[in-house]
Amino acid sequence: MARFSAWVKKHLGSKPTAQRHPEYQLPFLPTPRRSVTLTSFDAPTCLFFQLPYDIRELILLMVLGGCTLHMDIVRQKEGWQWRGAVCHRNQCRVPSMRYAWAGPWSDPCLRYAYGRNGEFLEEHNPGIMGFLLSCRQAYAEGIHILYSANCINIESQPLLIHLPQLVPTDRLGSITSLEVVVTAHRIEQDNGRPSFSLNHLKPILENIKTHCHHLHSFCLSFLVASCGCEILDGPTLPLVDAFYHSMQLRNMRVELPSVTYWKVCDYRSVDHHPREAPANTWRERSPWRSLDGGEPRVQDRSIERYPYPPLKLPLREDEDESVESVGYWLLEGDSGPMHPMVTCS
Ligand SMILES: [Zn+2]
Repeated sequence: MARFSAWVKKHLGSKPTAQRHPEYQLPFLPTPRRSVTLTSFDAPTCLFFQLPYDIRELILLMVLGGCTLHMDIVRQKEGWQWRGAVCHRNQCRVPSMRYAWAGPWSDPCLRYAYGRNGEFLEEHNPGIMGFLLSCRQAYAEGIHILYSANCINIESQPLLIHLPQLVPTDRLGSITSLEVVVTAHRIEQDNGRPSFSLNHLKPILENIKTHCHHLHSFCLSFLVASCGCEILDGPTLPLVDAFYHSMQLRNMRVELPSVTYWKVCDYRSVDHHPREAPANTWRERSPWRSLDGGEPRVQDRSIERYPYPPLKLPLREDEDESVESVGYWLLEGDSGPMHPMVTCS
């Protein structure tokens, strides 16, 4: 028996114990971690895998792709629990719809999917576990499509902060479209008025920058339970600017709390590009944080290319007019704390 225990210890290693992470006891991946996803297969295991890979990929994209998928971990009485669900927030609306698309800050899916008694609603079930677990090749090909052909939505702050310790890095490397909700931490002050901190934004963005190499679409949504403009007063937007510069994104949207959004709109300049069709109503335009020059500027720009960047405003007559602007779209998000209702007696 002692020899068997020694063999298990040598070949399988010891599992991480709760004592290693007493502060969170999150189910961290072991380090170092041996990848168990095979990349080559000697012989097709069933008829489906005898099809050329291009055909298989098309089928898998049609079956497994094209959705937004929630991925979260939450603290329960008995410990941490992984949660996942198909997002029904926008139904048939797509991210290219500037004013009809509902942002991640208002997403009710996980609350509804798991209900009050923890029962999972079947309509939120991706229905793919059977295929993924059918054989190793199905898992290897399906799991890549799952992460790369869907938009991944993460709201759990522990998951965002510890992303590479909880999700294998090759899965993070497959993600192409990502929505994250960053919730400001409430800090009680001696004077009785709370302050709100976004100090955890930097490690969250650092995790995404380091591990999501194929990301091309990103939506960042802030939740701040305050009526103030903390995001404008602190280093938050410069951090987001630096993140944008460090990535090769095709489109990026940032949802600001409502009060902050309208404060930003006060300083926007209404700009028109010579190649854009006239956009006179507010529904045809949107605030755009331009990082083209030295200082970031908020421009009110036509959304004809949305969610992709508008064209860069030419500074000189001989400047190329077909170059895209550098920056990201600003959207109105979290409406902040609800004011208490006043009833007439
Ligand atoms: Zn959802």
